Amino acid sequence: MCGIAGAYSENSLAGRYVYYLLFSLQHRGQESAGIAFWTGKLDYRKGMGLVSEVFTERDLIPANVAVGHVRYSTAGSSKLENAQPFIVKSKVGSVAVTHNGNLVNYLELRKELENEGGVFTTDTDSEVIAQLFSKLLLSEGDLEVVLKSLSEKLVGSYSCILMVNKKIVAFRDPIGFRPLCVGETEDGYVVCSESCAIDAIEGKFIADVKPGEAVIIENGDLEFLKFADCKKKAFCIFEYIYFARPDSIIDGVSVYKARTEMGKTLAEESPAVADFVSAVPDSGITAAIGYAMKLGLPYMEALIKNRYVGRTFIMPKQELRELLVRMKVNVIRENVEGKRVVLVDDSIVRATTSRRIVEMLKRSGAKEIHFRVGSPPIIAPCYFGIDMKTREELVASKHSIEEIRRILGAESLSYLSLPGLLNSLKKLGGEGFCIACLTSRYPVPVPGELSDHVGEPED
Ligand code: SF4
Repeated sequence: MCGIAGAYSENSLAGRYVYYLLFSLQHRGQESAGIAFWTGKLDYRKGMGLVSEVFTERDLIPANVAVGHVRYSTAGSSKLENAQPFIVKSKVGSVAVTHNGNLVNYLELRKELENEGGVFTTDTDSEVIAQLFSKLLLSEGDLEVVLKSLSEKLVGSYSCILMVNKKIVAFRDPIGFRPLCVGETEDGYVVCSESCAIDAIEGKFIADVKPGEAVIIENGDLEFLKFADCKKKAFCIFEYIYFARPDSIIDGVSVYKARTEMGKTLAEESPAVADFVSAVPDSGITAAIGYAMKLGLPYMEALIKNRYVGRTFIMPKQELRELLVRMKVNVIRENVEGKRVVLVDDSIVRATTSRRIVEMLKRSGAKEIHFRVGSPPIIAPCYFGIDMKTREELVASKHSIEEIRRILGAESLSYLSLPGLLNSLKKLGGEGFCIACLTSRYPVPVPGELSDHVGEPED
């Protein structure tokens, strides 16, 4: 999980655009932020923390081209050296790399590069992309050939935005794991992870970058370049379930509509007799509204979120997560006392948060809690950039639904079925998904795991 952004601006506002784009992508990573600027030479600022903490007004130097990154570490530890953009200087000039995703084979590639004399300054897979790209550019010269060779070497997920001297080169892997889109501003172009960021700067959405496609922006010109065939698209289904902002539209599907539809399907599959429907804020809200609409039940708030605490899922250490759950939400006692509540959340990963929330609601007088989950059980780890690293930490990989219900202390527990999830998206025109963490079958070869593409909706 990371957010990436790039901008070309005739009026030298590229750094400022990237700053605002990153601001809107803050939900994708909160550990570090960085921007690289082209001012005739490469300059950069990066630091640990939120976008608002890392940059001051003075940092946003005038530049025609800039790229930036907000980071949540899934490969490499959480420290400043690992913050992006990565800068590689070589005979081809300066290359600043921002990457969203995770390479499965990065240790292998790193070893290869080290054997050829490459020196690494970080322990991240993104630096492998930076070095490999620079090396290929030096040997091949032609961008299409470089990107094609790169895609033949990299296994895993990568949406990247590179600043190669004054040129922006943005590309999405041939599987299309992570989102990437392009927009137009008054004085140039932007490219970023999600369309909500283009809206935020009042830009005009142009297109999603397709799997295996690149976008080149140079001297005010924009060009699309196909560098690899997309044989099987496997877009991360969790972008729709949880990660992406609901006001984004990804690959033509509104995230908000997708979540509403998932909530409606969940209501059809697992209705509950209750006084009202509520959500675990904020990520469960849209599915909860869909659920309530379908059953004609009122939607009310049972929990209020402290908006000044980050998302718990996104904190890297377990102790921090636990502390944050307690600080994060509080119950509206007046709404829940003596009531039967349907509580909807988007997913259950470790069940720590869900268990604490049920406990809090019960302590505040809720009579019954019917827990509903807007996705199927997560049973397998993600190797493509989402922080679900081991089966051990996934409650559904070790426990049955009934056991999880008991752990949560809820009166009932139901998950959205996999066909229900896929059909909800298919109704909106969405297909071709990675569902590996729900099925244990991976869309690209992962050592020690089964590989298969099973992302198509069932009839
Ligand atoms: S394994 Fe799950 S979280 Fe990871 S990319 Fe696939 S769908 Fe997304």
